Amino acid sequence: MKHIAKKKFGQNFLIDQSIIQSLINAIHPQAEDLMVEIGPGLGAMTQPLLKQLNHLHVVEIDRDIIQWMQGFYPAQKMTIHNSDVLKFDFGTLGERIRIVGNLPYNISSPILFKLLENTSQIIDMHFMLQKEVVERMVAAPSNAEYGRLSVMLQYRLQMEYLVTVPPEAFDPAPKVESAFVRCVPYASLPFPATDEALFAKVVTAAFGQRRKTLRNTLKGLLDDAGFSALNIDSQLRAENLSVAEFVAISNYLASQNQS
Ligand code: SAM
Repeated sequence: MKHIAKKKFGQNFLIDQSIIQSLINAIHPQAEDLMVEIGPGLGAMTQPLLKQLNHLHVVEIDRDIIQWMQGFYPAQKMTIHNSDVLKFDFGTLGERIRIVGNLPYNISSPILFKLLENTSQIIDMHFMLQKEVVERMVAAPSNAEYGRLSVMLQYRLQMEYLVTVPPEAFDPAPKVESAFVRCVPYASLPFPATDEALFAKVVTAAFGQRRKTLRNTLKGLLDDAGFSALNIDSQLRAENLSVAEFVAISNYLASQNQS
């Protein structure tokens, strides 16, 4: 198909066949998998996936691509959802879904946060993203890359940085390096928050001004007595706290709210 890549949809199409094959190997599709691909584009990953799957769901926003796909792929092999992924209800697909995609980089964080809402029905997710985003996702505390994205994702997901992918693997080539990541939701959370909205609020407040101490950023939420009870130094910064410590803070605040 003749198609001019649309910048507004973050269209950078994979063209390196050996890299595509290594991504498919990492995904390891099984015929019966209930799989959904976000942004199939011109089919760089779709076609090799379809060779191994009985059926594939795709979610694509670009109507030109949708029209072409409708004529190209047999309907019994593929269900095409012409939708903005940020509005798509993954709950309609069923339980135990696997999600893959070379994501549009301009909306990758909103996509990740949206998928966090549905992790109970997800087996795993494999995504191509900007390398810098994947580094933030998997970062450990006390690193420059560690931030709100790391904590919120690591709360629910086990993540593995799989491979770095150079700009030349795409057409048009993006300005940045990319990386492929595997995300697997925990069957049971290692550090469950009793009030997840409060947990999210604490993490957002703490990283709101990441150069400031926790004493400043959590003012109004956690007082000196709270820091002492939790045995957390109020002079630390958000980037020094583990996911477990953020959960401990929010669970302490939830218990204080109840008493
Ligand atoms: N999978 C193809 C590949 O690897 O060559 C295309 C990847 S390209 C980086 C991103 C794809 O996501 C494009 O097909 C684009 O049209 C689609 N896309 C962009 N924004 C989207 C959105 N909000 N919802 C669904 N698809 C979107």
